[in-house]
Order: sequence, then structure tokens, then C-alpha cells
Amino acid sequence: MSNLPLRPELNYVQAYGAPQIDVPVKLNTNENPYSPPPQVQAAMATAATRVLSTLNRYPDRDALELRTALATYLSRETGARIGLDQVWAANGSNEVMLQLLQTYGGPGHRALTFTPTYSMYEEYARDTATDFVAIARDSDFVLSADRVQGALTQHAPQVVFFASPNNPTGTALELHLVELALRLLPHSIIVVDEAYAEFRRAGTQSAINLLAKHPNLVVTRTMSKAFACAGLRVGYMAASAEIVNHVKLVRLPYHLSSVSQAIATVALQHAADLQKDLEIIRQERDGLVQWLSESGFQTAPSDANFVLFGTFSNRRAVWQALVDQGVLVREVGPDGWLRVTIGTPEEMAVFRTALLETRDASL
Ligand code: PMP
Repeated sequence: MSNLPLRPELNYVQAYGAPQIDVPVKLNTNENPYSPPPQVQAAMATAATRVLSTLNRYPDRDALELRTALATYLSRETGARIGLDQVWAANGSNEVMLQLLQTYGGPGHRALTFTPTYSMYEEYARDTATDFVAIARDSDFVLSADRVQGALTQHAPQVVFFASPNNPTGTALELHLVELALRLLPHSIIVVDEAYAEFRRAGTQSAINLLAKHPNLVVTRTMSKAFACAGLRVGYMAASAEIVNHVKLVRLPYHLSSVSQAIATVALQHAADLQKDLEIIRQERDGLVQWLSESGFQTAPSDANFVLFGTFSNRRAVWQALVDQGVLVREVGPDGWLRVTIGTPEEMAVFRTALLETRDASL
């Protein structure tokens, strides 16, 4: 052991990440199972090639073309009017949220979330020396107004993270709870992480529609899921122009590569092509939830591209038995539960067979 000056809070910490095991059916990281269609790949290649001749230059620091395309997409997807000055992009919504805590967190400031939820919120807080408070949800993973009000009043955080649909439960947040938080803490930043928003069921609202009335609201989204571009690492947020300007204070110079900007802009121009399979994924998800409950498993209602299911007295053994049959799911969330990402119909058929085999082997 050397005596390198590792920050004490990093002692004994494991690096974040799901196991990357090479099996035929990978249903563990909530990716889109469909690769970009060939004509979109061709348009991306053309755009990337064009960038190569200017690769000696730094990219557009403010990503104006990309942010304009994101604003147009968000306005179309939600019916809200979102302008360029209300959008910010970075290397995945992970980086956007880290930047938010670099901007509004830090020593003496506090971030709060409701668990089980996306475990990276705690890491952003740790990495920015922000205090972190995790409040447990009710047993059915639902969040009640009383719980939100109690937590926010008691802890008065500078930043609140809500995920909707939530990872790993898949459950969407009722917008009146976001409005409650915005009202209770008008001088704090209320983040609604909508990484999976495009998979929501009909009737589930996006918090983007609250932006016009609330200058302290941030809605983060990503191109990693519904746009089938997880490898591109482009995420973004919509917020007030004031928040966007604040975040610019902490971003690294030229943080988003010109290749990323060019390909993401093309992806947005081809949004309809890239998202043409979303309906298949939604149908597979709804079918899986029904099948799981008919087969005697518990599930949580999902507005995302994954489903939490259980419960198992030894979830690790179930996870391993599935891996042994070539199916990788995620061991995450409350004890006894596992999370499965929605793959292609063929992959889901393999998953269902493997799960029944595993149960019949009576683990
Ligand atoms: N938010 C949630 C809830 C997620 O599950 C993920 C990815 N797993 C992200 C944000 C980050 O996505 P990305 O950085 O790829 O945009």
C-alpha cells in the first residue's frame, strides 16, 4: 500500500459499474436493443467525416447547433416552448448532473433524494463534497406528499434529485409532487431526471411542461436510451436561462467534442427514425409486467424500458442462474429484487424461459 493522498471518502469505495459480462442476452444496463438504422448511421458517418477536416480546431464551446436541435426536439416531444438559452448539453446526463452539483452543491450545501433511486446521485455529491441525504420511499416505492414535504422541510436541501421514471423501480412521479417541492423550496434547485421519459405510458406527464412557471426547475434527459446512442455520451438539461448561465461557469473548456456534437445533431434530425421502435419496447414492457404477475412474481408499474421484479430470498443465486443460461440482468435495488431491461421480443422470450427454468429449479 502506498501513501498516496487519496481523499478519505474514497477509501474502500468500489468504482461504479454493472458487470460487463459477455453473454448472448444483455439486459442489465437499460440500453436500447436496436442499433441506429443504416440510413441514420450513414448520415452520422457523413457528418463525422465533415468534422475531420476541422479537427485541428476546438469545438464550439457553447454547442449552439446541437442545443438548437435539442430545443426543437424537446418542444416537439412535450408541446412546451423551449428556447436555445434554456438548454445545456454535456457528456451524458451524468456530466450534466455533476455540473449541477459543481454549480449549486459543495461544502456546506446539501443534496437530497428518495431511495431506492439512481445510485449516481450520491456519487456526484461525494465527488463535489456536497452533503447527501437519502430518504426512503414507501414500501411500494411510491412517494407521498407527506414524505416529500417532511423531508424537504426538515433538511432544506439546496438541490433535490427526483428521477421520473425512477431507476430501478420504473415508477413515474406524479407532477404535483414536483410542484410541491418547487413551492416549498423556491430558492433551491429541483432536478427531475427524465433519462427514460420517452418510454412513458400515455397520460404520464413530463416535468418539462412546468419549466415556464419555475425558474428553479431542471429537467435532465439523455440520448443514451430512446435515441439508441448510449455510446455517443450526450445528455442534456432544460432549465431557466439563468441556470444554464450558472452551469457554464463550471464546465470545462470545450467539454463536448466536435464529433459528439455533429453526430448528436444528426441523431436529432433523424429522431423519428431512431425512435421508431419505442412502441415495440413499450409493448414488450407492458407484456412483461403482465406476464410476471400472472406467473406469480411481484413487479412495480413501469414507465421506463426496464422492470423491477422479485422477490427472491436469494437474488444473487437467481442472477447467477440466469447468467448461466446466457441472460444478464442487474442485481440492484432493494434486497430481493432484480431489474431487467427490455430487449427485443426474441431476447425477452429467452429471458422468460430462463426465469421459469430458474424458478422450477427451486432456488
Ligand atoms: N439517470 C438515470 C436514472 C439513469 O439510469 C442513467 C443511466 N443509467 C443516467 C441518468 C445517465 O445516463 P447518461 O449519462 O448516459 O445520459
